[in-house]
Amino acid sequence: MSVMDIFETMEYGPAPEADSTALAWIKDRQPFQLFINNSWVKPSSDSYLASVNPATGKPLAQVASATKADVDSAVAAARNAFASWGSTPGHVRARYLYAIARQVQKHARLLAVLESLDNGKSIRETRDIDIPLVARHFYAHAGWAQLMATELPGYAALGVVGQIIPWNFPLLMLAWKIAPALAMGNTVVLKPARYTSLTALKFAEIVQEIGLPAGVVNILTGEASQVGEALVRHPDVNKVAFTGSTDVGRSIRRATAGSGKKLSLELGGKSPFIVFDDADLDSVVEGVVDAIWFNQGQVCCAGSRLLVQEDIAEALYAKIRARMERLRLGNPLDKAVDMGAIVSPAQLQDIQQLVARGVEEGAELWQPSWACPTEGYFFPPTLFTNVSPAATIAQVEIFGPVLVAMTFRTPGEAIALANNTRYGLAASVWSDNINLALDVAPRIKAGTVWINCTNQFDASSGFGGYRESGFGREGGKEGLYEYVRPAALPAIDRTPKLFIGGKQVRPDSGYSLAVHNPAGQLIGEVGEGNRKDIRNAVEAAHAASGWASTTPHNRAQILFYIAENLSVREQEFAARVVQQTACTHAQAANEVQATISRLFTYAAWADKFEGSIHRPPLRGVVLAMKEPIGVIGLACPDEYPLLGFISLIAPAIAMGNTVIALPSQRSPLSATDCYQIFETSDLPSGVVNIVTGPHDILSQVLSEHDDVDAMWYFGPVQGSQRVEAASAGNMKHTWVNDGSPRDWLNTLHGEGEEFLRASTQVKNIWVPYGE
Ligand code: NDP
Repeated sequence: MSVMDIFETMEYGPAPEADSTALAWIKDRQPFQLFINNSWVKPSSDSYLASVNPATGKPLAQVASATKADVDSAVAAARNAFASWGSTPGHVRARYLYAIARQVQKHARLLAVLESLDNGKSIRETRDIDIPLVARHFYAHAGWAQLMATELPGYAALGVVGQIIPWNFPLLMLAWKIAPALAMGNTVVLKPARYTSLTALKFAEIVQEIGLPAGVVNILTGEASQVGEALVRHPDVNKVAFTGSTDVGRSIRRATAGSGKKLSLELGGKSPFIVFDDADLDSVVEGVVDAIWFNQGQVCCAGSRLLVQEDIAEALYAKIRARMERLRLGNPLDKAVDMGAIVSPAQLQDIQQLVARGVEEGAELWQPSWACPTEGYFFPPTLFTNVSPAATIAQVEIFGPVLVAMTFRTPGEAIALANNTRYGLAASVWSDNINLALDVAPRIKAGTVWINCTNQFDASSGFGGYRESGFGREGGKEGLYEYVRPAALPAIDRTPKLFIGGKQVRPDSGYSLAVHNPAGQLIGEVGEGNRKDIRNAVEAAHAASGWASTTPHNRAQILFYIAENLSVREQEFAARVVQQTACTHAQAANEVQATISRLFTYAAWADKFEGSIHRPPLRGVVLAMKEPIGVIGLACPDEYPLLGFISLIAPAIAMGNTVIALPSQRSPLSATDCYQIFETSDLPSGVVNIVTGPHDILSQVLSEHDDVDAMWYFGPVQGSQRVEAASAGNMKHTWVNDGSPRDWLNTLHGEGEEFLRASTQVKNIWVPYGE
């Protein structure tokens, strides 16, 4: 081919990255062992698994297959290491994290090539995106370790953390897990995905190279049924952090329920990519490429649903098809390749089956004219048009390079379509009208919204889902709270109807429950709420969802007003506490005073628990907005019948949630006395709903209810377990006390940021700027 021919056709020549150093590195270490207590240890099974290069289908390495016994030794090593690592000063931990970041940079090319060989993703991505982000994550968390004492006062490390990561961003997911855990003083046992262990093993070498104390990081390769399950269930693991499929996330929720383990889940998605008719279509096309063909679409937040305003749909499809025709797919180590291989034959088969289903269901399929390599596991970029919103391919996560397009006419329709999914991980909004984009972004139920950009990640900004995309955040300051607990709290010294939709209603059961004082005397009756009452209350709470969009100032005013109305009836409320609990009058007066003060606290916080603005390395800003979670079920404690009840309701509604409260089962009358207080304080109907009755039954119903977004439970330990297990259905946020009592009078136990954080979730809105 002459220079002139090349100039005419602009054809790419091959530009392969050398793999000899990486292959030699693998060969020298075959077979790979387990990394426990800073040593390479043979698996107790003495068996090994093959790791395959997806671009060739040929074996690449043998990695150890750990067993439950190996999990036991790794957890023991981590526990032992925690004894000193947990109390190592933040500055010292910061130096180790900094050393890891430097070492990642020094071995960047080896890591990038290993990742491409093992996963099949293009070297362009591993070299320019995955590995630089890994280093950035360790740098940023070196900073958080340094600042922990001043920025998270009163918080302590959890202990041993079990971490399970997927194959789509092997080293990046490791960094997202290990960096915050170590920064906050925890030790870890990490299981990489079976298909992609090699960069985690290189990372183990880095741990040795920088002299991290033995046992702080342990890496166990192997199978989910052996290592994964044993880690999740291990009694000496204090927290499980998981990224992967929603089904496995759900099983982990069930397995850890009631164990007292903290849990964060980053699960699947079906993210909308919304294009309004005033968007710059050429930028949109490049955005689409990054949204769905990045990493062959094997990205939890891939923009897999293209929602286009009707009048520009055909023009945009034509541009996308032209761009697809020019995408380059092939050897992942070729520097000019856009798309590499699919991770495994099983994943390839799943994609093929879902695509066949799309065709069967009547959608129009379009693929470029060129053919994929026949060796290895490849799938071409694919566009489906004429898709019904209810079609399988519009609802199910395909996790491959398949874009599903639908149209809308109005912004309202775009939002409805965007939210028509059980997931809520991310969204992109494309419009040259910033007013429109900033109006739409908060109305999409997703943890991250990118405006005129997509698939942006940075350690400064948290990432995580709404709904069945999981809970908890990775990155940002909010991600740190996943790895800490409040440090030891001071020791503890010691027939009304239901209220639904702003009205007092009789219980559906037609039964009443007797309320006795501690001496066993009958002091009143309350309605016996049942499943139907809970359903009505949830409906009322949803109907009051406008509460979330009232101004924080307005919510503050109402909370102040409730406090004022309570103080007018202070004596009466104190007498009711005495009647139910047989405490002294002075103690009861103290409880009422503390309740009024608590209402003031949350009135104060209503407009002050604000978001923040991050400055990731891009021209633009990220708006981290704290949003209410939605409808929250509250099982209130038995102690302090008035204060315990208000301590849960007030933060939740201050942040814009609506609630269904189950007041103290033993002493419900203080809560039922509040009906009139709420009615006279301008609290809109349905914001607070109260159902009296047996907590066991009612909290189970609330936890199973798919339209309840979060459940808090303060009661016996068995109740905590039931709530966590039952909540796995729609992955609702749970906050339970695992049977530990709180001193609600003490402000360290009974109020503050912990309550506000449980009432909110962070949405990150990425806003690049500049012409
Ligand atoms: P999984 O959720 O099965 O695997 C993710 C990780 O969890 C792996 O390390 C896996 O181990 C481990 N694991 C699996 N089952 C258990 C268990 N019961 N207990 C503890 N650990 C477990 O994802 P797959 O790899 O099977 O992919 C299937 C689908 O999941 C994809 O098609 C995609 O839809 C989705 N997915 C989503 C991801 C995301 O980022 N949200 C990432 C990856 C997949 P092992 O590798 O040994 O099986």
